[in-house]
Amino acid sequence: MGNLDTLIQDLVIANRILARKEVVDAYGHVSVRHRENPNRFLIARSLAPELVGPDDIVELDLDGQPVRDEHRSLYLERFIHAAIFAARPDVMAVVHAHAEDTLPFGIAQEAKLRPVIHSGSFIGTEVPVWDIADNFGDTNLLVTNMEQGRDLAKCVGGNSVALMRGHGFAAAAPTLIEVVRASVYLPRNARALMRAKQLGGPIKYLSSGEIAARNRGYSPYSVETWRAWEYWAKKAGCGHMLTRPNDGQSHVANR
Ligand SMILES: [Zn+2]
Repeated sequence: MGNLDTLIQDLVIANRILARKEVVDAYGHVSVRHRENPNRFLIARSLAPELVGPDDIVELDLDGQPVRDEHRSLYLERFIHAAIFAARPDVMAVVHAHAEDTLPFGIAQEAKLRPVIHSGSFIGTEVPVWDIADNFGDTNLLVTNMEQGRDLAKCVGGNSVALMRGHGFAAAAPTLIEVVRASVYLPRNARALMRAKQLGGPIKYLSSGEIAARNRGYSPYSVETWRAWEYWAKKAGCGHMLTRPNDGQSHVANR
């Protein structure tokens, strides 16, 4: 199987995992940068992630336009991905989702989403919030052009995730496996923080030293990380599509 085929398979797995983990439903999407041409990325056509198969993957440029004749509908918000890939050469994979547990932290002005559990350390000390109204006034809240996408990418900055006020989040990572992991654990961290706040009293967040220690110890292709990817893929019904990092190029070359 060629490099591109394994990358497409991995992207299908990512779609199915995010659906199975209820990070996405009918809406939300995941993309991966093209390996040979960094000015392109792969993403599904307009379809619920649970239903995505290899034939549904399309190739877009960094303006969010298809590189080949494409008569099928595309995601309206593909510009989120295009703009983040354009702004961040280090980013190889992007997720946009509307996960409900993250939403309160984009709405409540005083409540910051910060890491409180070990698996939430990737979010940094605090997640920035992008408000489309700041620069675009009254919209339907969707990111439907490059100008809006670039504004969001600016808010993401060098971070791994930004919340989108009243809408959802955008996550970016150096590999597909990491962006899926981040998108699974972001809502979990949000849930834990919300429940801890309900218990009352001061909240104990991860310290910057703990965040640094977690990041130092993390490797996207470690046995521990692969264990989660393999488990999630099998639970999502696509274990047969897995390519192990040591018997294919897909994961290693992705880095
Ligand atoms: Zn959206």
